[in-house]
Amino acid sequence: MVSYSSKPGISLPTAASQPYVAPRKTVPTRQAIALISEHGDPAAEIGKDAAGGQNVYVRQVGEALAKLGWQVDMFTRKVNPQDAAIVQHSPHCRTIRLVAGPEQFIPRDALFPYMPEFVEAFRAFQSKEGIHYPLVHTNYWMSAWVGLQLKQHSNIQLIHTYHSLGVVKYQTVPDRPAIADTRLAIERQILEQADCIVATSPQEQDALRTLVSEQGYIEVIPCGTDIDNFHTIPRAEARATLGFAADDAIVLYVGRFDARKGVETLVRACAQLKEGIVNKETGDRAVKPANLRLVIVGGSDPNGADGLERERIDQLVQSMGLAEQTVFAGQIGHTQLPLYYTAADVCVIPSHYEPFGLVAIEAMACGTPVVASDVGGLKFTVVPNETGLLVPPQDTEAFAQAIERVLTDELWAKKLRQQAPIRVQKNFSWSGAAVHLSDLYRRLLAQSISSTLFFGAATTTQPERSEKPPILKEA
Ligand code: UDP
Repeated sequence: MVSYSSKPGISLPTAASQPYVAPRKTVPTRQAIALISEHGDPAAEIGKDAAGGQNVYVRQVGEALAKLGWQVDMFTRKVNPQDAAIVQHSPHCRTIRLVAGPEQFIPRDALFPYMPEFVEAFRAFQSKEGIHYPLVHTNYWMSAWVGLQLKQHSNIQLIHTYHSLGVVKYQTVPDRPAIADTRLAIERQILEQADCIVATSPQEQDALRTLVSEQGYIEVIPCGTDIDNFHTIPRAEARATLGFAADDAIVLYVGRFDARKGVETLVRACAQLKEGIVNKETGDRAVKPANLRLVIVGGSDPNGADGLERERIDQLVQSMGLAEQTVFAGQIGHTQLPLYYTAADVCVIPSHYEPFGLVAIEAMACGTPVVASDVGGLKFTVVPNETGLLVPPQDTEAFAQAIERVLTDELWAKKLRQQAPIRVQKNFSWSGAAVHLSDLYRRLLAQSISSTLFFGAATTTQPERSEKPPILKEA
């Protein structure tokens, strides 16, 4: 059992006419809130089995909110009978794995039918523990559906973060899955009915407004990174630790194996670099970067979809004659990743679509210039010529040229190395993101109480529309 009162911290009066007296004796020291992330287990190992940015976001935000005084319960689906039902991360932050469908990995496109069971399991957990969560923050569209069901029957404040937008994603994939229409409908419903949508970049906010609905309240609160972990360390030291030579030209990819991540574009670009890029106007070949190294970080399950993509990339590497230059480093944890970022000359993010892209800010925090696709959240985090370069997605030649520039223009690259961490420290920390989320939660809960007091019933409330600009302070 955890050490907090099972009663919610904010009591709702039963009759609007009764004067409000703060029930001091029953107020617990901490308000319990629920984060729901149906497929992104906050306690999972990151970097394989489809665990990526969403898992990191929920875990980091959850832990940071607990430090700010909330009791944070993070709910996910149990995918393995051997996994613990409850993982306690810190005294006031835990992951709770609910049984909804078979206890095995189920691909995202086949998961929706199990969401009614998830709702039931969530309700059963609340009754068993005697907890009512007055505020639920959902992540990804299936959790949004769960949140909408909960909101129908109880007075909760519902906040949602998309992590991925179907309407944008489906523009970049050749075949729409059967679940696509359901997903699009729920993504619209949550925007119009949640008490607040948290967009992680102004670009996501624009996409929501122009492609999903003009209704609904949105605040922009960017993702963060752990700046105590991701910071600059001497490059020579990092290279020596990882066994790279001082004069290697290291091009780094960090992320999952998924076709939309565009690793293929990066491999093709590196093949061009190896041969030396031909200047279209003069026909000259640029000097080849000596000792080119392509380092690919990310885990995969040989029996899973990411295993198939890893295999496809491996074959491409072979067929492009890059086997000698390429290192598949496998899954690397966050404590070791700063060594890879710092050792690299450039970190490349060739995604076809990227809602935010945590890897960009992790690399920049470590002083590594980023060459990224000019899409989604990467347009927000990477500042061209200041922290890296943005190029059109899937444009092999543009990637090759941008990478070559970082590898060969030393003075300019040095400037990027100095500027990149400053931008991250100023704008993208998890503690900063959590402060803004915490402030939003408090406003929503306070307004929920006042609307109940004045109108005698729960209504959908929205926080005062400060329409605050994003917390970004331009570097
Ligand atoms: N990651 C990791 N180890 C790996 C590969 C990736 O820890 O071997 C982490 C990476 O550091 C980042 C996250 O996985 O925190 C990927 O998040 P991002 O937003 O870039 O991509 P997503 O997975 O959401 O598509």
